[in-house]
Amino acid sequence: MAETLNRVFIDVEIDAAAAGDAELAKKLEEVCPVDIFKATGSGVEIVEENLDECVLCDLCVDAAPDGAVTIKKLYE
Ligand code: SF4
Repeated sequence: MAETLNRVFIDVEIDAAAAGDAELAKKLEEVCPVDIFKATGSGVEIVEENLDECVLCDLCVDAAPDGAVTIKKLYE
């Protein structure tokens, strides 16, 4: 029960160009340990229900071109 109080709130933003990049989509799907990215064949989708699992590892940020993926913490 207590764990539910420890949820973090994260938003992941992908810029339009990167979101439509099928190659990058596959890479993002592969690097994220908690499956927040889903490659669709024509780009990438964010799996909303997994967002709160984000461990802030920055692997997605490093895998994408500079500034293409942003992890936002919605809490202090
Ligand atoms: S920071 Fe890590 S866990 Fe969070 S979305 Fe990126 S790859 Fe996934």
